[in-house]
Amino acid sequence: MTQSFPAVMPTYARAEVGFERGEGPYLFGTDGKRYLDFACGIAVTGLGHAHPHLVAEVGKQMAQVWHTSNIFPIPQQQRLAERLVAATFADTVFFTNSGAEANECGIKLVRKYHAHHGNPQRYRIVTFEGAFHGRTLATLAAGGQQKYLDGFGPKVDGFDQVPFGDHAALEAAIGPHTAGILIEPVQGEGGVRLVPQQCLKGVRELCDKHGLLLFLDEIQTGMGRTGRLFAHEWAGIVPDVMSVAKALGNGFPVGACLATAKAAAGMNAGTHGSTYGGNPLAMSAGNAVLDVMLAEGFLDNVERMAGHLKQQLVGLVQRNPDMFEDARGMGLLLGLKCKVPNTDMVPMVRKHGLLAVGAGDNVMRVLAPLVVKPEHIAEAVDRIDAACAELRAAASARKAG
Ligand SMILES: *Cc1c(COP(=O)(O)O)cnc(C)c1O
Repeated sequence: MTQSFPAVMPTYARAEVGFERGEGPYLFGTDGKRYLDFACGIAVTGLGHAHPHLVAEVGKQMAQVWHTSNIFPIPQQQRLAERLVAATFADTVFFTNSGAEANECGIKLVRKYHAHHGNPQRYRIVTFEGAFHGRTLATLAAGGQQKYLDGFGPKVDGFDQVPFGDHAALEAAIGPHTAGILIEPVQGEGGVRLVPQQCLKGVRELCDKHGLLLFLDEIQTGMGRTGRLFAHEWAGIVPDVMSVAKALGNGFPVGACLATAKAAAGMNAGTHGSTYGGNPLAMSAGNAVLDVMLAEGFLDNVERMAGHLKQQLVGLVQRNPDMFEDARGMGLLLGLKCKVPNTDMVPMVRKHGLLAVGAGDNVMRVLAPLVVKPEHIAEAVDRIDAACAELRAAASARKAG
């Protein structure tokens, strides 16, 4: 035993403050301060903290049965699958414990579809620069970010990456081995980079033209974050496969891979599995989340709050042109592109009581909970203004000194 190595493997660069309690959009820090949580565990706690309905439902399940194994029927799993099927394009659902696993399932499904139809040579998936699909070996290969791949041996084969927003390059990348296209409707980690609706339509058309499966990663964009249950609904297209996770369990670890019956044709008994995936406890969290999100008017309110917050962020950019370049994103998946390093901005807004989260392209993601109210938005804006003032004062003091 080496004493000097941290007990928790030091793979994360952590902030200085942790939290002991949450309530709606607020978290209470171990430093005694209250924070407005516009990070939401990176788009996970969409319904805020300690939501009474979620606490009650998961609590009830907790006292009944936690786990039985997928060897046995799981009624809560059946129910959540049926509800997701009813609410989406999908005919069938596989449950996982994380986003990366939902993507792994989707990657396997896309490959299996072509093998099932006698084309096992069609196994390659086209992905986009700046994408993020998870940290397993295959999803890292799909994301294609060199800094995450370095040192982990040969990159998993079967992914061809093209520049973001380059339709010609996308079409050119499609060959006799191509099985599908994997894309996030908005790149979250990549810097809140929106795929225009017209482009999503174009990708759908390409898939139809070449017999490919369209696989959407809605792990961050899904579960109400954009003001529709799923972001692709805005573009009026449907995928063949879709991964979901993050807000599906509001912090209880759960993910899902949704597919049409046609796409999932090869996924019969024995082709895939998970010990924990879809267990009663996780499914009670997912069902409780859906109870809230599918209620009349919930998503309309998200859309209203999103419009309001976006307008406020545009105002912030206008008032602080030395700090911000633009306000971007859709729904409540919003970001401010910074002119100072986002690694200065994010800790400074935290110092002023607001939690936000960094992203690629020097963006600070502003991920309000879906249950946000106008007064919380006003509070967040005040705190960002205050953070800008302090950064500005520090910069001019440096210049003077
Ligand atoms: C967070 C995220 C993932 C990975 O999910 P994990 O639960 O961390 O495995 C994959 N894709 C997107 C778009 C994400 O935002």
